[in-house]
Amino acid sequence: MTTTTHILGYPRIGEQRELKFALEKYWRGEIDQAQLQGLGSDLRTQNWALQKEAGLEFVTAGDFAWYDHVLTTSLLLGHVPERHRWTGKGEVGQSELGLDTLFNVARGQSQNQCDCHGNAASDMTKWFNTNYHYIVPEFSAGDHFQVSWPQLFDEIDQALKLGHQVKPVLLGPLSYLYLGKEIEEGFDRLSLLPRVLVAYQEVLAKLAAQGVTWVQIDEPILALELESPWLESFTTAYQSIQGEVKLLLTTYFDSVSHVINKIVTLPIDGLHVDLTAASDQLDEVLNVLPDHWVLSAGVINGRNVWRANLSEWIDRLKPVKQQLGERLWIASSCSLLHSPVNLEAETKLTPEVKSWFAFAKQKVAEVVLLGKALDGDHAAILACDTYSQPIIARESAQHVNKPHVQARVQQITPELSQRSTPYQERSHHQSEVLNLPLLPTTTIGSFPQTAEIRALRSAFRQGKLAKTDYVEAIQRQILDAVQRQEALGLDVLVHGEPERNDMVEYFAENLSGFQTTQFGWVQSYGSRCVKPAIVVADIERKQPITVEWSTYAQSLTKKQMKGMLTGPVTILCWTFPREDITRKTITQQLALALRDEVSDLQDAGINIIQIDEPAIREGLPLKLQDHQDYLNWAVEAFRIAASSAKPETQIHTHMCYSEFNEIIESVAAMDADVITIETSRSNMELLKAFEEFNYPNEIGPGVYDIHSPNIPAQHWIENLIRTAATKIPVERLWVNPDCGLKTRNWAEVEASLTNMVLAAKALRQEFTAE
Ligand code: GLN
Ligand code: ZN
Repeated sequence: MTTTTHILGYPRIGEQRELKFALEKYWRGEIDQAQLQGLGSDLRTQNWALQKEAGLEFVTAGDFAWYDHVLTTSLLLGHVPERHRWTGKGEVGQSELGLDTLFNVARGQSQNQCDCHGNAASDMTKWFNTNYHYIVPEFSAGDHFQVSWPQLFDEIDQALKLGHQVKPVLLGPLSYLYLGKEIEEGFDRLSLLPRVLVAYQEVLAKLAAQGVTWVQIDEPILALELESPWLESFTTAYQSIQGEVKLLLTTYFDSVSHVINKIVTLPIDGLHVDLTAASDQLDEVLNVLPDHWVLSAGVINGRNVWRANLSEWIDRLKPVKQQLGERLWIASSCSLLHSPVNLEAETKLTPEVKSWFAFAKQKVAEVVLLGKALDGDHAAILACDTYSQPIIARESAQHVNKPHVQARVQQITPELSQRSTPYQERSHHQSEVLNLPLLPTTTIGSFPQTAEIRALRSAFRQGKLAKTDYVEAIQRQILDAVQRQEALGLDVLVHGEPERNDMVEYFAENLSGFQTTQFGWVQSYGSRCVKPAIVVADIERKQPITVEWSTYAQSLTKKQMKGMLTGPVTILCWTFPREDITRKTITQQLALALRDEVSDLQDAGINIIQIDEPAIREGLPLKLQDHQDYLNWAVEAFRIAASSAKPETQIHTHMCYSEFNEIIESVAAMDADVITIETSRSNMELLKAFEEFNYPNEIGPGVYDIHSPNIPAQHWIENLIRTAATKIPVERLWVNPDCGLKTRNWAEVEASLTNMVLAAKALRQEFTAE
């Protein structure tokens, strides 16, 4: 009666990011397709060997992807936008879809690749509430689906030849449709379901013919609050694809108890639930689980870096094991795609800190060990106890739990998140002190991160550059940025952020309570990986962080220098959080630390301080019913950070995405004096939200898209500002690009900002003349 153990997927990038480097070489033409394929095959071989050697019942296949698993599904189903089938020699037929077609969808085609005007890539968006991005399938009424691309079946063959018991993973038909978007008016993509199902039937029949018994079919959308036509469609969908193989319906990232009554009516063979994101659902699920179903308990958190408390899970799951016997499976909560690959690679962590973590490879071992322990293996039970010790000891460790930090959080009062006067009054003080023209111009913070700047930071990190030399070199960069901005005629200047590699990592490194890693890479999209810092202890600011750079920059100019901080919610969202305290508490600690930085900046003579919160929207929980609570504490945290500002100190914030409507009230509640946002790509569409809601403070709608190398023409910028002025009183408008400029070069930046400043000056005259 051994417990079946499995994982929902393993990181595909490789321990040393091998896939990233190979992909980039392939795109540069340095290796050919056979070499790239060879590397992919090696990575899969290694990943499966590791799963088998660890003792998992199944190895998982179909989790490997050249770019993204949603895109893989599109290719599998032969569902590729027409424009990406174009090669220059003609259109690629269904049977010829291949790796290059896949990269066309993901990355777009330049003129010479397609012998046309170039083709835009498909959109990319966030995978639920993770920092992974998927390629959004494009649907129109005429779409057809036909199993086309053999990658999945080839991989199953590969695994079978290696002697593995293999469980393929497939993105389910409803999630596939749901996660895409219509590119045609007046058409509902759900109407494509019957056609999609025919293709799925064929996929499952092929897998069955290959000898597969279980298929993991991912329907993560079940954790959302689905509109009823979508939820109802599960019945037809699963009735039509059942029969060929056993289906394990997989859900993750949140509870499915709100739809469990629907789920249990489906003709499937088992259900996977995420018990790390929503442990409460266990009892409800157990109460209604059909007698012949497997329950796959997702207990090892696939999206964080902490060692699991296995002893606690043994206690929790023992009665479940008694109830279900062999029908209980043990698993990772979600795919391990979202966790770094191998903790063993880290050489700089202290043994203590290392004993707190588990990356993907270690999580596989956790799943196996827990399975054995539940089977009553005494050695395994003891091993679980020993294994859990460090994480239990950590709970009361003094360097983790700092009484003075906790006391300060306890003492947060409503007044702490209030500026001393309302915006209407503050704005008078601010205009006296700041002395800015109508339509003031500014930028979002960063300037080009040149090779020279990167080399400086890297030399300093590696100890090859002394601190004083480093500081001088960075100061020269700041001086350069200030001179260029003065020459451009901008009104509010920035120091350019040359000392920052990344807006979150920089604060994580300079606040106490974070741990950074050497190789803790996680795929963000395609070949892009991020290395989030880890919150390991109560967070505090030991000394000022940005004050010296900002005051140095201010000393170089008579114009206003804008201080630049990353907000508490964004730091939370882009790091691995602790699991022993709430996200709210972590954010409050961050807010208090940043509040002190705001005080110090203003005491040092900085009159304008920007607190960036580009991640505030993506932190939204999956379920609508949880939104308000999150927004309340997120807004409060921002306000705690900002409210040490005196009335005459102007607080800016910056956000760069376009779906503001649902959070507009919360954005207003942040009560920043000025908000800069992304609008240029939507032709100021976004401002509708601000107009309808009557946003009370100042706004800088981004007047050009920094993601593109194109130089915006002056008249084009003028038109955008005119449009903006029809929606927001011109006295409350700012003129700025829509995000930081670190990814552009100076030639592009100077040309674009020249036009931006000219446009602002022209309109100042136009508006004052009226
Ligand atoms: N201040 C940051 C920058 O300019 C903001 C980046 C962001 O919004 N993601 O780079
Ligand atoms: Zn931005």
